[in-house]
Amino acid sequence: MTPFTYVALPSRVIFGFGTIARVAEELSALGAARALVLTTPYQTGNGEALVHRLGALAVGLFSNATMHTPVDVTEAAIRALKEVDADCVVALGGGSTTGLSKAIALRTDLPQIIIPTTYAGSEATPIIGETSGGQKHTQKTLKVLPEVIVYDVDLTLGLPAGLTATSGMNAIAHSVEALYAKDGNPIIAGMAEQSIAALARALPKIVTSPGDRDGRSDALYGAWLAGACLGSVGMSLHHKLCHTLGGTFNLPHAETHAVVLPHAVAYNADAAPTAMECIGRAVGASDAADGLYALGRSIGVPQSLRDLGMPEEGIAHAADLAVTDAYWNPRPLELEAIRDLLRNAWEGKPPQ
Ligand code: NAD
Repeated sequence: MTPFTYVALPSRVIFGFGTIARVAEELSALGAARALVLTTPYQTGNGEALVHRLGALAVGLFSNATMHTPVDVTEAAIRALKEVDADCVVALGGGSTTGLSKAIALRTDLPQIIIPTTYAGSEATPIIGETSGGQKHTQKTLKVLPEVIVYDVDLTLGLPAGLTATSGMNAIAHSVEALYAKDGNPIIAGMAEQSIAALARALPKIVTSPGDRDGRSDALYGAWLAGACLGSVGMSLHHKLCHTLGGTFNLPHAETHAVVLPHAVAYNADAAPTAMECIGRAVGASDAADGLYALGRSIGVPQSLRDLGMPEEGIAHAADLAVTDAYWNPRPLELEAIRDLLRNAWEGKPPQ
């Protein structure tokens, strides 16, 4: 066995169907009695239903969670929190809502219960990205790691097919990069392969039959494992590219991950043969990058950065940005090869 370091992240995880019914007992176990529920505007109805279900344990709803966690929204939420004297936050939604909850925890130290409804995986990480003045700042601190995650598969049955597919590929990307992380270890590698296999098995089913309960359960389980991988080990070229593209050209988060993933994997293939074997096994393909590309096509994710609105003249600029701020990647960062990778992804060609 190769020597390794493994750090376990402390979180209580409840997984199943109908588990939203357990939020009240989890609040009490945390010693909380005055929860502020968080959602996006789109999920206000779900938030109201949760407030109603919690009865006296809920003191308010803040339904303005926003993509990229803008600091002014966080400040508005904290004002709302103080007005009702809340002692806990309960976030119901995707990565944007979880981001707001973490931003509140960062500033107040209040405990968090997260009820994820997408496959982004933020609930399982001690990472927070916030935006102010058009800049995104990311930091890693245990202060933002939620105390409790309640995975309720029922809440994901209505996730639209498009978001299911892109969010699922976003999750797979976390697990893929965990397999070749510099600080990887056998526990995380086992979780990563299981995660990719569960998602690859589930996504084609639930994109065509969104109400398939077994498929939804597998996908949410795979997404949790993926989040745990993202929270535990360092990410490489793929995440750096997506972060750069999202920030520079304002491209949508999950879609960008879905387009770039097979190309980033092809770039790293020769430098990470063991990871490629695991990925290939998990997606049922002899070549990892081709298998991921085929999976994406089969579930209808966008194929090109052009379709996401990236300008062609941005390719060279994005490649320059991707090789600045040296970071670890299994294959050295080669400007020209990264430019080719981005051009392929921009055109929507198969990975090379
Ligand atoms: P999102 O949270 O922005 O959700 C997209 C939209 O889908 C929202 O309007 C939301 O209300 C809606 N939605 C969510 N669940 C739904 C459901 N079950 N049915 C119908 N609609 C639903 O998108 P996301 O992809 O979950 O999260 C993306 C954000 O999360 C990005 O800002 C990203 O940076 C962040 N993120 C952070 C981490 C981390 O570790 N810090 C990890 C992954 C993602």
